[in-house]
Amino acid sequence: MSMIDVDKNWRLLIDGEWVEGGAGHYDIVDPHTTDVVGRAPEATVAQANDAAAAARAAFGAWKRLSAKQRCALIGRLGDEIEKRSPDWVATVQAETGATIATTETLQVGGPAVDRFRYYATPIDLDESLSPIPTPAGPLGPAGLLSAEVKRQPVGVVAAITPYNFPVTNVAGKIAPALAAGCTTVIKPAPQDPLGILLLGEAVEAAGLPPGVVNIVNGSGPDVGAALVDSTDVNMISFTGSSPIGAKIMANGGRTMKRLLMELGGKGAAIVTEDADLGTAAQSIATVWGFHAGQICTAPTRVIAHHAVYDQLIETLNTFSGFMKVGDPTDRSTIVGPVITEVHRDRVEQFIASGIDDGARLVCGGDRPDLPGYFIAPTLLADCTPDMHVVREEAFGPVIVVLRYQDDEEAVQLANNSDYGLYSYVFSADTKRAYHIAGQLESGCVGLNVIQPHMEAPFGGFKMSGVGRDRGKWGIEAYSELQSINWMA
Ligand code: NAP
Repeated sequence: MSMIDVDKNWRLLIDGEWVEGGAGHYDIVDPHTTDVVGRAPEATVAQANDAAAAARAAFGAWKRLSAKQRCALIGRLGDEIEKRSPDWVATVQAETGATIATTETLQVGGPAVDRFRYYATPIDLDESLSPIPTPAGPLGPAGLLSAEVKRQPVGVVAAITPYNFPVTNVAGKIAPALAAGCTTVIKPAPQDPLGILLLGEAVEAAGLPPGVVNIVNGSGPDVGAALVDSTDVNMISFTGSSPIGAKIMANGGRTMKRLLMELGGKGAAIVTEDADLGTAAQSIATVWGFHAGQICTAPTRVIAHHAVYDQLIETLNTFSGFMKVGDPTDRSTIVGPVITEVHRDRVEQFIASGIDDGARLVCGGDRPDLPGYFIAPTLLADCTPDMHVVREEAFGPVIVVLRYQDDEEAVQLANNSDYGLYSYVFSADTKRAYHIAGQLESGCVGLNVIQPHMEAPFGGFKMSGVGRDRGKWGIEAYSELQSINWMA
């Protein structure tokens, strides 16, 4: 594996220059070893404003490039990321605590490169409308009125991102934003910003003009809040928790920010009586094995038909026995740590609240005897819809199970949630699964599958967010509609 340079002088990227964090540095801690793996730069509010001003100054020239010219640079950025990713693995693994397999396949390289490659081909969403015969009137003579509907870049986009998949998440925002003609300021999550600073080195190497991508970082909310308040910023593309998203929406309202909000989830997984329980259990067990459940789309809320309820729980319990918890750099480990001690304690309290409320602890619930911030794969059965563990996300390796009698009740239970990001239906009868999917208040639904289609629109209903990205919807998200009218 690549090496970590613990003594590296990490700096902010503002207007094409690497600058010292004006507020000093703070420690980035490996959630497994609890060692310091780097000292992240801490921006001042003035530096956040400088970054927004640099993005504003760069906007005109970036927008005026042809789509082909912009896309060529985006493609080059994808190439630079691909070339450099192997060297990023150790740092990104250490700061996120993700297992080595998750780091190599999903934290660096592949998905981030794919996002830039996808948007390296121009996507033209402009359209011409059919002319409308228009009678003479007070506004002018009769004639045929034509119009073109153009996509104009929204302007400066501040990308404020969460800790779980830092590089991949940022790539998913800036690739379409840049393709749409926007300039950007990235504000990573405080826990693991180093990979994003490495991404900044790729931006520089790819030859993007100064100010088109800026990176400011901080250990507290001041830097992100300054971007939300900045009149140089037109749009906030936020991924994170629903309460912070609601705060950003409220604060952004003062300057009429355009918003893309990708927020929390409490994914329902409906398992019908004819489902392949092996597939269902394997998919649901990804809550434990995939970045220790720190993923918004995880199928954490299982809604099982009464006829297979006990068998599914038994199968999941058996699966949990195969989930090796421990050193994430050991290739046989499946469940790594959660991000911080504070988060580990929060998840433990979450589990305790479920047991207090009457849930049955099938497995887990205890703290493994390991250094670092580990939580054993936890399964809570006999849950009811009003329990806190059913209503709120744990963002950890915790699965809750509810029982249902018929499809109507399954849909009612699934929709009985403030969230609506990603739900799943496991059934041998795909027609029935498809019918159930259509009734779910959920931005995305997987039928017997966990993997998402990366070009399908992604986003949530209800408290899970506002707006969609990915595919052509990414260009829509980062652009304004402009209609140009003329008399033919
Ligand atoms: P978080 O606590 O909401 O933080 C997300 C980002 O918001 C961080 O960069 C944070 O940095 C910043 N922030 C906090 N307060 C702010 C404010 N007042 N103004 C501007 N920025 C502010 O989320 P997290 O703990 O990192 O991530 C976990 C959450 O993300 C979960 O709820 C998960 O479901 C959600 N998530 C959703 C998706 C999706 O696609 N829907 C994907 C991944 C994760 P500072 O604290 O330094 O300000």
